[in-house]
Amino acid sequence: MNREKAVVVFSGGQDSTTCLFWAKKHFKEVIALSFDYNQKHRLELECAKDICDRHGVEFHILNMDLLSQLAPNSLTRKDIAVDKNAPKQGTPNTFVDGRNLLFLTFAAVFAKQRDIHVLITGVSQSDFSGYPDCRDVFIKSLNVTLDLSMDYSFDIMTPLMWINKAETWKMAHELGVMDVIKEETLTCYNGIKGKGCGACPACKLREKGYQEFQEEYL
Ligand code: ZN
Repeated sequence: MNREKAVVVFSGGQDSTTCLFWAKKHFKEVIALSFDYNQKHRLELECAKDICDRHGVEFHILNMDLLSQLAPNSLTRKDIAVDKNAPKQGTPNTFVDGRNLLFLTFAAVFAKQRDIHVLITGVSQSDFSGYPDCRDVFIKSLNVTLDLSMDYSFDIMTPLMWINKAETWKMAHELGVMDVIKEETLTCYNGIKGKGCGACPACKLREKGYQEFQEEYL
């Protein structure tokens, strides 16, 4: 199996950017794939491209318009506000049905054409936000399905699966890319790069993790 190359599912956010640099450390050749699913914040794709350009990573955007057409959600529709707090039941409205399933499936098709077996994604079960497709059991199940569907052996790697946000900051610190994460990534649901708006759930999670990282590891 060719384990020198890897495809990273890349959004330009904190988690996938940390994974991108983790991949650069472990693989000779890394290709980043972003998906255009009509997300409100077009800046997300620009951020992703800028990070790749600046750090010498091959970058592609795949068109996934269909996703927002099928599954309207607060990340693609201007008329749906992002849930401020996690709902008591069900998934938050930032969850996009089928997103990780589709992204990883398309990433797998892309990878196979290039004789690549390793797919890397920044999903995490630890800071579980109620997203079913971030769970380890889903990733393992999809790995088997992809293998069977294409008669090819994929290895979906999830460096962040069992670590929390503070430990994700620690990983960035160890990889020597704290400044990249702090300044060049976009995690905020309100589309503000770097430190973000400070008020949305993604910003709060990011900031809380950073505080914990500083208290525990510095
Ligand atoms: Zn925010």
